[in-house]
This record gives sequence, structure tokens and C-alpha cells, in this order.
Amino acid sequence: MYVEGSPIADRATPDVPLEKRWDERKFTAKLVNPANRRKHRVIVVGTGLAGGSAGATLAEQGYHVVQFCFQDSPRRAHSVAAQGGINAAKNYRNDGDSAYRLFYDTVKGGDFRSRESNVYRLAQVSGQIIDQAVAQGVPFAREYGGLLDTRSFGGVQVQRTFYARGQTGQQLLIGAYQALSRQIDAGNVELHARTEMLDLIVVDGKARGIVARDLITGEISTHLADAVVLATGGYGNVFYLSTNAKGSNATAIWRAHKRGAYFANPCFTQIHPTCIPRSGEHQSKLTLMSESLRNDGRIWVPKRQADTRPPRDIPEDERDYYLERQYPSFGNLVPRDIASRAAKNMCDAGYGVGPGGLGVYLDFADAIERLGRPAIEARYGNLFDMYQRITAEDPYQVPMRIYPAIHYTMGGLWVDYDLQSTVPGLFVIGEANFSDHGANRLGASALMQGLADGYFVLPATLNDYLGGTELDSVQAEDEAVVRTETQVRQRIEQLLSIKGKRSVDSFHRELGLLMWDYCGMSRTREGLTKALERVPELRAEFWRDVRIPGSSAELNQELEKANRVADFLELAELLLIDALHREESCGGHFREEHQTPEGEARRDDDNFSYVAAWEHGEIPVLHREELAFEHVHPTQRSYT
Ligand SMILES: Cc1cc2nc3c(=O)[nH]c(=O)nc-3n(C[C@H](O)[C@H](O)[C@H](O)COP(=O)(O)OP(=O)(O)OC[C@H]3O[C@@H](n4cnc5c(N)ncnc54)[C@H](O)[C@@H]3O)c2cc1C
Repeated sequence: MYVEGSPIADRATPDVPLEKRWDERKFTAKLVNPANRRKHRVIVVGTGLAGGSAGATLAEQGYHVVQFCFQDSPRRAHSVAAQGGINAAKNYRNDGDSAYRLFYDTVKGGDFRSRESNVYRLAQVSGQIIDQAVAQGVPFAREYGGLLDTRSFGGVQVQRTFYARGQTGQQLLIGAYQALSRQIDAGNVELHARTEMLDLIVVDGKARGIVARDLITGEISTHLADAVVLATGGYGNVFYLSTNAKGSNATAIWRAHKRGAYFANPCFTQIHPTCIPRSGEHQSKLTLMSESLRNDGRIWVPKRQADTRPPRDIPEDERDYYLERQYPSFGNLVPRDIASRAAKNMCDAGYGVGPGGLGVYLDFADAIERLGRPAIEARYGNLFDMYQRITAEDPYQVPMRIYPAIHYTMGGLWVDYDLQSTVPGLFVIGEANFSDHGANRLGASALMQGLADGYFVLPATLNDYLGGTELDSVQAEDEAVVRTETQVRQRIEQLLSIKGKRSVDSFHRELGLLMWDYCGMSRTREGLTKALERVPELRAEFWRDVRIPGSSAELNQELEKANRVADFLELAELLLIDALHREESCGGHFREEHQTPEGEARRDDDNFSYVAAWEHGEIPVLHREELAFEHVHPTQRSYT
């Protein structure tokens, strides 16, 4: 299934005390003189919060940025969908928050599978992100007195989540986008919208460019640079149904993986507890109801199994507020992995509500009575409207029905402290890298990480690479460049020549179901083995029988999807291998064989306290990065 490779280590973290590491790294990083920055071209793939902030900042520094997204505008990147908020250790509430506490919560929340140095830096720069966004005019919610308002998210006992109603991602993205637009207008960023990266160009072992396809005309083009930054988001859509935008995909990171970038912890996927349940077989997308709703909403199921009474007819003493009962300290705000498993356990035991018993209630009656409807409208109005439009039920009158769904991927390309992958010159930021969230991401931490990477971390470490690396000139005619472009063309021709009978979606749907059933909320050796037998068969069928109408020289969305699904079919296998090899439960990775008598995840720190960094090959090669916990000592996570 896989072979063992040599251990891997992060060599970029300075060997000084934790609090001094980021300052030390910035100080020792080589600088590039402003006049010389203009001479460097940097490719940034992605315009979400990570890519948008990086592109704007690098261009502001003076680099020539060439930036790509597959949407028609940077503003449509999937980050626009983020609802609930962004964490920062500002301690405006004076409730005991600090950078150290944010660091501690994140390492613990990630079930002790993240790198301390990276997480501490994230906590350190979190406050700067809010300052930057406020300076850009991002309309965060404010208290009556004008101070920025905050709310709680899961897994923490302070209120450190800044928000803009239920549209935090959109507002932050507008901020990053206007900074990027300024640089586009100034000629420092060359933007290629509706253009998809299909391969990475590696010359003499260094990332030197990409091959991309214009999604409108089908034209294949090559773009060369001194460094490449991938900010291409997560791969949750390998499960077909997820809360991610339909277009989110793994192609950029998967192709980079095949060119030498190690893939870390692919099996660490996050299942979000509060999504609108599936409505039927033909659904192609799931909708998130933000975690912020758990600030005021109370989760419950009837105490009687298969109770079909309308929720308002079920008296208080016949309801089980199971999170408040099982986890009194954190109540409804336990971390996502724990809340998701608890909902599944309730439904599996026959207490679920709604069609098929696959739902639990999220009830606002108490909050509306306590705070009044206008206060709830002000906090969550757009989420309530969205829920009502999708379900035709009014959540001000009846509780929402929610069920867990695939939401986020903690795994991604392996990066060191500098956010550099194992291919020199290839940097990976935002959800596309594996960095900070271990085996479970805490709510409101993805926006923080994407913006920390883009606004603050990458701009410092990229300087060091460009200032300290000998870069030969690379031409479009060079053998490696031509070869990569030819391979991209051949693959497209091959896909179009199959002319089979099955639609791309039918393959994607089958893959997703397989992954959800055997590698979703709980995983077993038997199920993973079964999926590992089926995925290669499905992949072979895809390459024999997929039907892609039309040609490559036009807008062809079936071809776009086929390219992406072909990559999902490969990534899925690595994800399953990773899940099978990790004989422990941690965070979102729940192996039924490894649980406590209470049904909680049982980690195996003696044998699995490492990042699994996979090298591509005929058979995947496993490189382990041992994790050291000098500050937050691994314990059995407790939220009771
Ligand atoms: C519904 C929902 C709500 C969420 N709410 C929150 C929240 O409240 N707080 C929080 O912290 N997190 C939240 N998250 C998570 C968070 O939104 C994401 O993790 C984050 O926005 C990812 O940002 P990114 O910049 O890394 O990637 P994305 O925003 O996904 O951007 C990816 C970019 O890469 C481009 N791209 C990808 N592949 C290619 C390619 N091959 N070629 C060219 N371009 C490419 C895309 O066009 C896009 O511009 C939420 C997620 C979802 C699904």
C-alpha cells in the first residue's frame, strides 16, 4: 500500500524560545532591495482570502505578480461564502484572552497534531489581521460604544470571534479585493480570471511556472516566474456533497504533488455539525448554517426514539439537550468533531428528527424570548433567511433541523515554517496547505490562517527565498517547460477521445458516496479496505467510459469537471491510505477501533504523534515529521 521513506523535518523554524521565533525568522530573512523587487515575477494561483491578500501585499512590496483564478472575478472565490467570523486574540472583552490562550486552544482543538511554532505565530499575528481589515474599511459588527463586537465559537471559553453579520468572508474578501484591484490598476498585478492552472513547471528542481487553460477559449498557455504560490483552497469536494463551492477542487495541489510536493495528512477532513440535512438523491451541494448560531441556538433531540411530534409539541422535560448534558463546561460550543459525532450517535440510536431521522434540532426559542427577535435578526438574519428559503420552514417559529456534513480539509500540501513546500520556490498558503489546524480546525480559524499567511507570513518568507536563491533564466522553449505543456495537452486530448457513456457527475457522485460511507464521520479498517478496492476500479472505469461532449477549444464545463474529477479519483486513494495507516482516532479522523469507553476519540501519541507527509510515486512514500510539544502537553481532550 505504501513504503516508508526517511523522516522529514521543518528546518525553517529558528531555534529560539517560542515567543521569539517569528521575530527571529523575520530578522534573519534575506531582504530584496525595492529596486530589485520589480525584476521578480511571482505567480499566485488563487484569489480567495489567502491568495487575494498575498497578491495585494506582494505587489505593494514591488514584486510583479501574475495571478490566476478560475472564477470570472477574484471576488467570487469560495472565501466569499464564509459566514461566522474570524478569530483574533485582541482581548477586547477582557475575558482572559491572549496570544498564548489562542495558541493553546488551537493546538488542543487540533487534537495535538499541529506544529507548535506555526500555531504560535498564527496567534501572534491574529490581532494585526483585524487592524489591517479595519483600516481597509471592513464593516465588522460593533458594540453600541463603537468597539468591535465579538462572539464565541466552538472549543473556546472566551469571545474572540470578530464578525460582519453572517457574511464575514464576503466582507473580508471585499477588503482584500480592493487592495488587489488597486495593484491591478497600478499594473503591478496581471490578473488572469477564468483561467485554470493545470500543471506546475519544475526546472532544475525549482518551481518556475505553471501551465494554464483559458476556460473561455480553451487556449493552453505557459507562465514563467521566479516563484509560485498556491492559494487554491481545500479539497472537500472529493466527497461530492460538501459545504464548499461547487467549483472548489484539488487540481492545483494534486498536480503539484505529482511534481514533487509532499501531501500532508490527507485524511484530516472536517465534518461540520450544523448543515442543512440532505433533501434527496439529486442534491449536488450542501448548505452550512454557521457555527456562530451555536452561541444562541440550543441543540436537542426528543428523549423518545422515533418521536414524530412537531417540535413545539414536545414538552421541555421530554427533550434531551445532549451537548449541554454531556459537555457541561462547553455545552453547545464544543468543537466541531465532537458536536458532529454526538449528532451522529443520537441519530444512529434512533433519536434523530426529520426525514430518515437524519437531523437534530437547533432551537432559538429561548434566545428569542431572552433577547427579543430584533437582536437575533441583527446577529443572524441572513442565515435565517437562507434557511427559510431552502427548507420553507421559519426558524423564528420552529427549530432548525441540522446534520453534519463535509466542510473543510485540514490536510494539504506539506509546508515548513516558511510556508514553502518540498519543491523549492513553491509556496502554499491558506486552506491548500496543511499547516495549522492539526486533526480538527476550530471555527473561525480558517479566515485567520488564510489572511495571516497572505498578509503577513508569506511576504516575509518569500523575500528570503528570492533574496537568497540563485535563479537561472528560464525560457518557454526549455525542455521541462515544453514537456509539461505537452503533457497537459495530451491529457485533455485523451479525456476527449474516450467518448464513453457515463457522465462526469455520475463518477463524482459515486466516488463521493464511497468516501462518505467509508471515510466520513467514522472509519473502520474493513470499510477503508473496501473503498480502497473500489476507487482504483472506478478510476479505470472513468478513463474507459467517461462522456465529455464538445471540444477543448471552447467553453466546456464537462471538460473542466472531468479534469478535476480525474484528480479527485487519485487523491481519494491517498486519502484512504492515510486514513487506514493512522491506527488511532484524532480530531475529525475517527477510527471506530480506537475509541474510549465513552465513545471519544482515542489518540495514540506514542506511535502517531507525527505529520504524515506523502511523496508521490508508483506506491506512495510516507515521510514522518515528528511533532514536539514543548508548551501544550498532549492530554486526553476534555470539554466536559
Ligand atoms: C460555507 C462556509 C462557511 C465558512 N465560514 C467560515 C467562517 O466563518 N470562518 C472561518 O474562519 N472559515 C470559514 N470557512 C472556511 C473558509 O471559508 C475557507 O477555509 C477559506 O475561505 C479558504 O480560503 P482560501 O483563500 O484558502 O481558498 P478559496 O477561497 O477557496 O480560494 C481558492 C482560489 O483558488 C482559485 N483556484 C483553485 N484552483 C485553481 C486552479 N487550478 N487554477 C486557478 N485558480 C484556482 C480559485 O479560483 C479561488 O480564487 C467556511 C467555509 C464554508 C464552506
